[in-house]
Amino acid sequence: MTFQNTRKFAQQLDAQDELKNYRNEFIFPQHNGKNVIYFTGNSLGLQPKRTQKYVNDVMNDWANMAVEGHFFAEKPWWDYHERFAQPLSKIVGALPSEVTVMNTLTVNLHLLMVSFYRPTEKRYKIICEEKAFPSDQYMFQSQVIAHGLKPEDAIVEIKRRDGEHNIRLEDILSKIEEVGDELALVLFGGVNYYTGQVFDMKTITEAGHKVGAYVGFDLAHAAGNIKLELHDWNVDFAAWCSYKYMNSGPGNASGCFVHEKHHHSNLPRFAGWWGHNKERRFKMEPNFEPVHGADGWQVSNLPILSLAPYLASVEQFAEVGMDKLITKRNQLTAYLEFILHEIDAEIPGTEFEIITPSNPSERACQLSVFLHGQGRNLFDYLMANGVITDWREPNVIRLAPAPFYCSYEDMYEFGQILKEGINSLKK
Ligand SMILES: *Cc1c(COP(=O)(O)O)cnc(C)c1O
Repeated sequence: MTFQNTRKFAQQLDAQDELKNYRNEFIFPQHNGKNVIYFTGNSLGLQPKRTQKYVNDVMNDWANMAVEGHFFAEKPWWDYHERFAQPLSKIVGALPSEVTVMNTLTVNLHLLMVSFYRPTEKRYKIICEEKAFPSDQYMFQSQVIAHGLKPEDAIVEIKRRDGEHNIRLEDILSKIEEVGDELALVLFGGVNYYTGQVFDMKTITEAGHKVGAYVGFDLAHAAGNIKLELHDWNVDFAAWCSYKYMNSGPGNASGCFVHEKHHHSNLPRFAGWWGHNKERRFKMEPNFEPVHGADGWQVSNLPILSLAPYLASVEQFAEVGMDKLITKRNQLTAYLEFILHEIDAEIPGTEFEIITPSNPSERACQLSVFLHGQGRNLFDYLMANGVITDWREPNVIRLAPAPFYCSYEDMYEFGQILKEGINSLKK
């Protein structure tokens, strides 16, 4: 499609958008009486209007039934998490028994590493991406230290080549082969949080397995954003947070995936009563007998007040399906890219460098843009004018137009505000 940088053209795309009505199902912060242009769905998704009811239902059941709500609430609390299996498994390409929700993301990755990072004298190394999300880096270091190993020896980072912003698949694969039978675990992001690069999880998983390692993914920026086929890709385990693209609310619960092939294995795990055989859970027996499935990694009884907003969101995703979201995402991101190039060409002396891969199969919703020649005051200008985005050192803004609620007109409007900002700051 040939795009145009006009309001009329953007409005036409909106009119043809199959998902256009979903915009009204979200609550936007207001700026001068208008919806803000929201580019930070990769950090905290907007609140769906339906969420309030899910939370109120729990509050009311608690008020009216107190402890009886565990079994007699309309959605009983004791197995509330099981309502996620069906819809969530579709979102991440898994069998229902392979997914569960519990805890928060870094906690779950730690718990999964208890099972999937079992270093031996010979096989003890972890491969991860250079500049992984800081929480993941701290996790790797502390796990390795807990096993009595040295981070500088046990953690192998895949680096970007000099002058390049993205990691090459060939470099990941050759490093996996090189580390070979010393490799215990590959734990990568599905989508890099800084550049928005999407990694080829299927190929990475195959390569890791070929040398005898386990392969897991941190899907914080992938869940609800890209097409995942975790089961078919044969991924061993994965976890994601729900508050980014999945719109479940600040700091909210995490989803986990454990491949079916591990459900009957004797992998060690840190156990708790919610992972115990469901039929016998309340018999209060001394010996742990795990549920067969991802639910067997559960630890505590569940925080229902945080699962309620997540359930609202998962059901909304299930209604629409990832395919439609991805179709809109591709066009919306391409339109944003076009607008950036237009504005860049219009204003002498600017140079926007999009560091996200330009190949649509290697990117998703997010464009990370190096604003050469511009400073933090441009970011401040955008924020003061109703464009919510984020800033990373040295001068990168990340723009993530979530297809659920962002419009094409938002992209056009953003371009205009960006241009005004650059021109007014020049003066
Ligand atoms: C957002 C994010 C996290 C956050 O982890 P929490 O435990 O939910 O605070 C972790 N890893 C990546 C890659 C992220 O993008």
